[in-house]
Amino acid sequence: MYEDGWIPTVCYQCKAECAILARVEDGVVKEVKGNPRGRGKACVKGMAGITSLYSSERLKYPMKRVGERGSGKFERITWDEAMGIMETKLTELRDRGEAHKFTYSMFPHSVTDPKWRFVNACGGFISTGLPHCDSAKIMAHMHTFGCFPNHHIAPMYNTVPKGGLMILSGRHPFGCLDDACVPKHILDAKARGAKLIVIDPIYRTEASKADWWIPIKPGGDASLFLGVCNYLLANDLHDKEFCDKWVREGDMESLKAYIADKTPQAMSKICGVPAADIEKLAKMVAEAPSACIDAFKSIMYGNGMDWGHAWSTFLVITGNLDNPGGQPLPEIAPMAPVEPVPAGPDLGELGYHRTGKNREKFDNYNFFLEPTWYAAQAIKDDGLKVFFASECNPALSEMGSGEWRKAVTMKDENGDYKLELLVVTEIMPSETMKWADLVLPDQTNFERWELLYMPWWYNFGHGTALCQPVVEPIGEARHANRVFIELGKRMFPEYFAFKDDVEYYDIELAGVGMSVKKLQENGGLWSPGTAGFRKYEDQGKFNTPSGKIELEWQMYKDIGQEWPSPELPLEYRRGEEEFPFILVNFRTIFLNNTGAWSQNNAQLRDPASGLDANPCLLNPIDAKKLGIADGDTVTMESGSGKVEVPIMLTEKIIPGCAGIIHGFGQTMGKVASRGNWIGDNELIADAGSTLDEQDMRGGEAHVSTRVKIYK
Ligand code: SF4
Repeated sequence: MYEDGWIPTVCYQCKAECAILARVEDGVVKEVKGNPRGRGKACVKGMAGITSLYSSERLKYPMKRVGERGSGKFERITWDEAMGIMETKLTELRDRGEAHKFTYSMFPHSVTDPKWRFVNACGGFISTGLPHCDSAKIMAHMHTFGCFPNHHIAPMYNTVPKGGLMILSGRHPFGCLDDACVPKHILDAKARGAKLIVIDPIYRTEASKADWWIPIKPGGDASLFLGVCNYLLANDLHDKEFCDKWVREGDMESLKAYIADKTPQAMSKICGVPAADIEKLAKMVAEAPSACIDAFKSIMYGNGMDWGHAWSTFLVITGNLDNPGGQPLPEIAPMAPVEPVPAGPDLGELGYHRTGKNREKFDNYNFFLEPTWYAAQAIKDDGLKVFFASECNPALSEMGSGEWRKAVTMKDENGDYKLELLVVTEIMPSETMKWADLVLPDQTNFERWELLYMPWWYNFGHGTALCQPVVEPIGEARHANRVFIELGKRMFPEYFAFKDDVEYYDIELAGVGMSVKKLQENGGLWSPGTAGFRKYEDQGKFNTPSGKIELEWQMYKDIGQEWPSPELPLEYRRGEEEFPFILVNFRTIFLNNTGAWSQNNAQLRDPASGLDANPCLLNPIDAKKLGIADGDTVTMESGSGKVEVPIMLTEKIIPGCAGIIHGFGQTMGKVASRGNWIGDNELIADAGSTLDEQDMRGGEAHVSTRVKIYK
C-alpha cells in the first residue's frame, strides 16, 4: 500500500507543522527533510520524529484506568469498549441537560477540524492552552485592525527589505514552536541588509545573531513600546499619511493625549531600558523602510493584552500593516463547509467559565476558545463533568498544573470523582495521561491523514498542506480525528454522513477546487500564490466595526482598559521582598513544551548532552549575594509551590531574573522520568482559581511569577 521514496507529508513534532518529505524504504521511515515546495526546512525536533514513530514507548492499544486517578495504572481494553465508555457518558450528560459540561482541550489543526465538529454536535466547548500562550496577541490584533487570529504568523521575513527592522521581543524563533524556515529567513534578511533587534532579559541564539540586544525587565515590552510611540508622535515621526487615511476619526488625538506622559524617561523606570536606548530605537524605526515585531511567545508574561495593544499601536502609527517587512494580515482560503454544520452551544449563555465570585466580570471575556485553566475551577463548582484532551498536557504544561491535578481527583459526598470522565489521546506516555480514565493510542504524523488549513502558518500562508500516512500504523493506534468521526457516526449520524476522514477533507477541499488526490499529486501543498500586500487598500476598509483601525478600545472603557497599561504584570509588582527574583520561563529547540511527544523522545532528551536537565539560569552577581555556586542544588519557591533545581551561573540572564525551561518535568515514560520534577507551572498560580485577577479580554494572568532561591 505504501510507496518507497521521498513522500510529502507534514511534521508534527511541534505545532508549527512544517511541510516535510519522509524517505521510506521497505515500509520504514529512514529520513526526514524539509519539503522544498514548502520552503524546505526541518528542525532537530522534526528530524527526531522518526524516534517517536518507532519508540518502544508508543501506546499501542486503548487502556482504561485501574485504581485511583493519578496512580498511572491501566489495563488493556478493546476499541469497541473504549468507544462504548465515551458514548455512554456523553449520552448520559446530554440526557441530564448538561451537554455543555463537556470540554475537549485540543489544538484544532484546521478551522474545520472534525474533533471540533464532534464537540459542537455534542453541545460542549473547545478549550485550549491559547490564553496561556498567545491569545492576547490574537485579540489585540483583532480589536485594533480586525485581522483574523494571527497565531503562528510571524512577520514575512522573506520580504523584509534592506534596512528594514526585525524586532524580536521575548521571542525565540530559533528556539522552537516556529516554522523551521523562519531562522533562515531572518538570517537571509540580515544578509540583505536588514537589522535584527532582540529585546529580551535572556541572551539566547537570537541575541547572539542580533545587531542590537536590548536587555529588559520581563514584561517591560508594553512600557518600552509606549515610550517608542510617545517619541514618534511627539516628534512627528509617525506615518501621518497612513494614520490620516486609516485610523478612526478621533483616535489619534485620544492616543496622543493618553501617551503624552509615557515618555522614554518615564517608561525607562518601568522596563529598565535606558531612556536614550528607547529614543535610539524610535529613531531607528523612523528611518527604516519597514519594521516588524515578533513576540509570540517564548517568555511568558502576565500583561499580554497590554503588550498586544501597545504592539498593535506601534504597527499602526508606523504604517507597518500588510506591507513588505511589516505585519502581514492573513487571507483565508474558502474551504467548503461539510453540510449540515452543527451550530455548537452559545458560549455566552452556557460557558462553564461563568463560575466563582467574579462571574459577571466575564461578560467582557471574549476569546472564542475556553482556556484550559478554567477547568480546575469548573470541576470544583460542578460546572465541568467530562474532559477530553488531545495534543495537550494540562497536568504539566499549563500554569497552576498542580491545581488541575488536584481538581481531577476531587470527589463528591458519594465518593465519586466530580469529574466523571477524563479521556486522553496520546502517542506516548504523558503527564496528563497519568490522571486519565481512558487512554486512546494516537498516531504520529507518519501514520495519519490530516488536512492542515489555517490561514496563519508561516510555511503555508494562504493555503493548505496534506499530512498523509507514509507507513503502516503501529499497533492499534488510531488518529483522534478518526476516533471522533467514528463516535460522531454512532451518536450524531446526521452530522457525520461522510465515509471517513479522507472524504471529509475532500468535501472541504472542493471549496478551493482541490481534493486529497490532487493535493498528493501537487506535492502535498496548495496555495493560490496571491498573498499580496495592503489588502485593505483593495477592500477599502479594515474588518472592524467602524471599518477603520480602532486604537482606542472603547468597549472596554467600563473596565478601564481602553488603552494599554505600561505597568509590569501584577505578579511582578508584589511580593518583591519575599520573592526577589522574576521567573523567566523560556523554551528550547529540543522540547515541544505543550505536547508530550518530545518529552519521551530519547534523541531529544540525551543525558550525555545535558538535554534531560533543566538547570536554573542565574546571573553570577545574584549568586554571589546568595552564596550560591555553579552546580549547587537549590530550592526555587513562589507563593504557589517549590521545586528543587540545579544552578547554572551565566551572564546571559540579567540580574534579578531566574530562568528555567517551560513545560519540563514529566514523570511518565521511561525517557522523561529520568529528569527530576522541575516544572515551572508548579510555581505559578492557577489563573482559574484567582479569577478576580484574570485578564478579562482574552489575555492571561499568572503565566509567570516571582520566586525566591535558597540552598
Ligand atoms: S519547527 Fe516543529 S513542525 Fe517544523 S520541523 Fe521543527 S518540530 Fe517539525
